[in-house]
Amino acid sequence: MDVKPAALSTGSVGSLGELLVEFVCTERDGRNRRAATYMGPFPSGAPAIFIDQAARIGARAIFAGAVGDDAFGQVLCERLASAGVSRDLVRTVAGVPTGTAFVSYNSDGSRDFVFNIARSAAALFPAGAEAVEAVCGFGADVFHISGSTLGDPSMAKAALEICRGLHAAGVEISFDPNIRKELLADPAYMETVTALLGLAAYVLPSSEDAEVLFPGESFADFAPRLHAGGARCVVLKRGAQGCIGSDPRGAVEALAGHAVEVVDPTGAGDCFCATFVALTVSGRFGFRDALARANAAGALAVGRIGPMEGNSTLAEIEAFLASRR
Ligand code: ATP
Ligand code: MG
Repeated sequence: MDVKPAALSTGSVGSLGELLVEFVCTERDGRNRRAATYMGPFPSGAPAIFIDQAARIGARAIFAGAVGDDAFGQVLCERLASAGVSRDLVRTVAGVPTGTAFVSYNSDGSRDFVFNIARSAAALFPAGAEAVEAVCGFGADVFHISGSTLGDPSMAKAALEICRGLHAAGVEISFDPNIRKELLADPAYMETVTALLGLAAYVLPSSEDAEVLFPGESFADFAPRLHAGGARCVVLKRGAQGCIGSDPRGAVEALAGHAVEVVDPTGAGDCFCATFVALTVSGRFGFRDALARANAAGALAVGRIGPMEGNSTLAEIEAFLASRR
């Protein structure tokens, strides 16, 4: 019988949000204030890191976003194309620059960012009805949204509208809160975060997110509540400590982090989320196996400079896991 295995085993994943190029300061504690050598342009933006990794893992992938008509936009388009991501919903907008980010690392582990998002092409992703129709037409099983997209009110409104439309059409929503602490005082921001938590089948916070969203609560306290609210999978990303997840039956799995050298932590969370979601929708991996591969993908991600340069294929993840057994 002539059956193509890929056609049976590949899930479809979508995402939307800011497409950025990122410049990484090569010196510690420069705080983006001192003249120093920066490396870049690296393709970036949390949702872009996610979709690149989902495609690398083998998912069919579509992205909704926008770039300017400039060299940085070409960097992003070429990267998405090389990963095999559909760019049917990626617009090139004349007259505005491609979004940018400058990151500088500090010796205490903190990061300083300078962003140009809200007044760049990054904010101009396709409008609601067009995006919903195209993502449904593509056949996406899951659509991922990162809290990094919610910092600008008009981007947050558009993203929520699209997620509501997709949810109503039967597409599962995946949400990484990526909470921006400086926005917590804005009631509209928290309303959007709460609305997305209510829509999401996959809720994928980091420890920092959980401290803000569920203060004083352990995973065992908040995960059952999220399941009761409609989440199928709840996973807490714990940085170097690994992760803990709760499957659709509420069974909990905890995995220790892999001991690795940290070169550049940016993007590990997005890479983790993409690996977990893409492997889960492929139908080929059970909960614990998908979680183990996400945990390995996150560990691999921190080992390379550049936000999505540490993304990896399933073969690379399997080889890493085999080397650690
Ligand atoms: P981001 O900065 O991209 O938003 P995040 O805070 O959402 O990241 P983290 O918990 O930092 O997410 O990282 C995601 C996953 O990557 C972790 O759950 C873990 O599996 C892996 N990981 C991250 N940092 C390390 C590390 N230092 N050592 C080993 N694994 C790591
Ligand atoms: Mg995160």
